[in-house]
Amino acid sequence: MPVPLHKVAINTATLGYKLPIRQTVDAIARAGFGGIAPWRREIGSGEASTIGRCIRDAGLRVSGYCRSTYFPAATPECRIGNIEDNRQALRDAADLGAECFVLVAGGLPEGSRDLPDARRQIADGIAALMSEAAGLGVALAIEPLHPMYAADRSCVNTIEQALDLCALIDPSGRGPLGVAIDVYHTWWDPKLPEMIRRAGRENRILAYHVNDWLSPTSDLLMDRGLPGEGVIDLPRIGACIRDAGYHGLFELEVFSDRLGDLPSNELLKRCAESISAL
Ligand code: ZN
Repeated sequence: MPVPLHKVAINTATLGYKLPIRQTVDAIARAGFGGIAPWRREIGSGEASTIGRCIRDAGLRVSGYCRSTYFPAATPECRIGNIEDNRQALRDAADLGAECFVLVAGGLPEGSRDLPDARRQIADGIAALMSEAAGLGVALAIEPLHPMYAADRSCVNTIEQALDLCALIDPSGRGPLGVAIDVYHTWWDPKLPEMIRRAGRENRILAYHVNDWLSPTSDLLMDRGLPGEGVIDLPRIGACIRDAGYHGLFELEVFSDRLGDLPSNELLKRCAESISAL
């Protein structure tokens, strides 16, 4: 089933942050997309509500706000600092009107080899944000990252693990907590269809990030492909996501040095063409 342009959001990382955020908002709206996912680096201190208004005036939704400060840290002071940082980002997410705040949970603290401890710190950190998130009406979306990032970006690496974490922190299932499913991080998982169905049943799917896995891949962070350029069966995964009851925006999130060099309008045109591969 083709995905209409107004059901697609552009994650601003896709555009390489070349334009100031207001111009990015205009360009995305003019290109016919239905949403945007901005990054914290683009939102100056105290600016979130003005920019939120600018996004709404442009007729866009905010599919997610990127992203959390990593939770694990080598000292208790740093851990508390990271949580405080995330509290502020959550308030900004609320001002922006974001449908979720994306949690990239963090890897091992410097000098540590204790993965279970890092994972405990993540659970504690997320739990510490729950009441604030509920009060602000912003859902926390745990984004599992490909296992190659376990050391430095996130040691939450599968949808199953993220769902187990949700169940641990929010056993009633009624809290503002769920998962962001990014095909780049999850396409390889033999349990993907099963876990998408479980996420749907447990009402946890908060965001769906699309892009493609290039084969070969020249850089593990900055060489994603546009939908259709790589090896991921996007129509199959998209159908699975919809069958699981997700009717939110499809967010195009394509970190790419290769594409990031293109002028924004040209790149948005390529993005719009690529959604036929979804
Ligand atoms: Zn993502």
